[in-house]
Amino acid sequence: MSIVLAQQQKCGAAKEFRQRAAPTMDEVVALCPKCKTFETLWITRGRLNKTQKFRQEDGGIYHDCGSNRPCVLLPRFLKGGLTS
Ligand SMILES: [Zn+2]
Repeated sequence: MSIVLAQQQKCGAAKEFRQRAAPTMDEVVALCPKCKTFETLWITRGRLNKTQKFRQEDGGIYHDCGSNRPCVLLPRFLKGGLTS
């Protein structure tokens, strides 16, 4: 019985952690309007997590292929964004 209780407590703690961590980090897919590359990126509190191919400038995210238009950002998991 005590083992079952311990497992439930662990489960609850992990869920709580995910809910607390979720709002600070967003997973998005960036679609480059020039070369049609798309790649998954992480945004933390409105700031792009720096990658080799993408940079954040003037509030937009630009691909390093020389595109002068910002990438289109798509939510990666729509159902995740709709809950809570
Ligand atoms: Zn590009």
